[in-house]
Amino acid sequence: MTTVDDQVETATIRSLIPDWPADFAGRYRELELWEGKTFSARLDEWAQQYGTSTAVVDGEGRLTYRDLAARATSFAHGLRGIGVGQGDAVLLQLPNSAEFIVAWFALQRLGAVPVHTQPGHRHLEVSYLAGATSAVAYITTDEFARFDHRTLASQVADEVEPMTSVIIAGDLGDHSADARFHTFGSLYVDDDSPLGDPAAPSDIALLLLSGGTTGMPKLIGRTHDDYAYNSRVAGDRSRLDADSVYLAILPIAFNYTWNCPGILSTFRVGGTVVLAPNQDPASCFELIEREKVTMTAINPQLAPMWLDEREWTENDLSSLKIIEIGSARLSDYEARRIIDEFDATLQQILGMSEGLFCATHLDDDPDLLATTQGVPVSEYDEIRVIDADGTIVPDGEVGELTVRGPYTLRGYFDAPEQTAKAITDDGFYCTGDLVRRLGSGHLIVAGRIKDQINRGGEKIAATEVEGAFLEHPDIRSVAILGEPDETLGERSVAFVVLEDGAAQLTRRDLQSFTESVGLSAYKAPDVVRTLDEMPLTPLGKMDKNALRALLG
Ligand code: AMP
Repeated sequence: MTTVDDQVETATIRSLIPDWPADFAGRYRELELWEGKTFSARLDEWAQQYGTSTAVVDGEGRLTYRDLAARATSFAHGLRGIGVGQGDAVLLQLPNSAEFIVAWFALQRLGAVPVHTQPGHRHLEVSYLAGATSAVAYITTDEFARFDHRTLASQVADEVEPMTSVIIAGDLGDHSADARFHTFGSLYVDDDSPLGDPAAPSDIALLLLSGGTTGMPKLIGRTHDDYAYNSRVAGDRSRLDADSVYLAILPIAFNYTWNCPGILSTFRVGGTVVLAPNQDPASCFELIEREKVTMTAINPQLAPMWLDEREWTENDLSSLKIIEIGSARLSDYEARRIIDEFDATLQQILGMSEGLFCATHLDDDPDLLATTQGVPVSEYDEIRVIDADGTIVPDGEVGELTVRGPYTLRGYFDAPEQTAKAITDDGFYCTGDLVRRLGSGHLIVAGRIKDQINRGGEKIAATEVEGAFLEHPDIRSVAILGEPDETLGERSVAFVVLEDGAAQLTRRDLQSFTESVGLSAYKAPDVVRTLDEMPLTPLGKMDKNALRALLG
């Protein structure tokens, strides 16, 4: 019998995502949307073109484009020395740091594939990602947010057979005698010879995680060609250029921060990326003044904090031209306050790791800026807003957003069943988002049909948490739903039916349980409500509509 792991080993990693049909791929190439370059080749071009301009600011450290290219080469030699090669998946779980960027490009140099793992991911998620991708190495940090990543890495490496190396940005602690462990610094090898750029532009350049609605997050393989096009059109919409200074506040591994337009789009035009060590508005405002930041991206959860800080700050924010906000719905009210209180232009976005990226135009009138989540960034994004029967609804009416285009996936990584559910026969990705499209092409997010909670931009797949909580000895049945919340946009509510005689479960109990099963802390419910019995549909399935009626 062939196991999933065998398939990853025998098939090339590229064969695990579906291709665009030949006629589409041909057209995208002909139109030069796909430019036929790998990210490693791009890094060399940037080093040539932008040479001594500053590419990255991390604390007091600065890297020019030349430094970045050289470090990526040196680190790639180190990775190769420990056996990382073309087509190998490598988990990358680092906070916002220059190391993330160097490691990412070093992997590109080898034709290896970074798996964008969030700093908050814990054992269940990380071991799943490692297994699903047959990851050969895990690049992480020593401690972050009071969590010891070395212990997690050691556990995952014990369990996932192909994983033979752990690279720690920091101190090895108790693991210094473990031959699998290396410090990040030790992999900087004194060798600047080129590594041959073994990847093809149509290969997978990175694996992103889908917010997901299913048991475990799905993986999204983005090719060099499609991701670079995404980078270009997203950057163009924000008019990035060599004078742009982009402040990365949200986690660097998010597609939003990395490429929408984010870090890669800034590199493309020779601008500067400044890494924020945390999301605290006061320290971000200091960085904006110090580095003369021109653009940044936040989520709706941070928006009120920015407004508060704005009132008191003595920092000079006059360099800031664009505040991009997305990943969850920004209320029209909050949007108007941002427009009124800041001199910078608000740019609303609607994006997804699966591809499609929408953003308002910088010169849209304030009403569109305040009330819409933008227009697709490519004229080749084919949008259909459909009803439950798949019929296209007229502009102005609510329907599900579906999309096909040059940077939107044609299927999930190694998941034909999920692909069949998410992609129509003619190649449209069904986003699960409900939108209204205006005559101008602007989209307004009106809700969601996917079984997911969007907690301040962090996506929680209800079924994943429900599945984990069913393991709790006191829980007979459980449903996770989202409820409106002023700060988070949505908070997660767990409806539980307890086993006979079990004591009430508190939020704290379920937080500890979430941690103990190895799920990210943000997946723990914000509210716990106990029911005598779970409402069921006539077919005996959990009736989430009935539960929704119980929400505030
Ligand atoms: P992710 O792949 O984690 O980036 O999540 C993508 C999903 O985030 C989208 O499909 C939407 O459900 C949600 N999303 C992103 N931006 C917005 C927005 N501006 N308003 C509402 N939902 C959003």
